[in-house]
Amino acid sequence: MLEAWSRTRDGTRKLSANFTVAEFACKDGSDPVFVDSSLAALLQKIRDHFGRPVVITSGYRTAAHNRSVGGAAYSQHLYGRAADIRVQGIPVEQLAAYAETCLPGTGGIGRYPPRAGRAVGWVHVDTRPAKSRWTG
Ligand SMILES: [Zn+2]
Repeated sequence: MLEAWSRTRDGTRKLSANFTVAEFACKDGSDPVFVDSSLAALLQKIRDHFGRPVVITSGYRTAAHNRSVGGAAYSQHLYGRAADIRVQGIPVEQLAAYAETCLPGTGGIGRYPPRAGRAVGWVHVDTRPAKSRWTG
């Protein structure tokens, strides 16, 4: 279910045991913050599995911010359904492999492994209904 929050009013509110509204907020500093509750649940599952903090490098994006970071035109980040995540000490492939077990036949998983010009990799996960997989 898509929920709308205020960064200023609800920023410290927990959407699951380890995730607050502020962690999903758009990096441009805007309000409100849209978060699909099933995305928060998915990230919590990943957090519990690895027993380490899951860092959200990009959650909800406004259209303007999505354009400024070169996001896809209909990026799932625009709908509060996507998060780009990292877990300290866990390789991209291992993180993506666990996400696969959480999203069988559904959702989006994008692998962004480290490469020249990208020191640290990340995994994109989203809760769209149709299955989508890619490497970026
Ligand atoms: Zn993403």
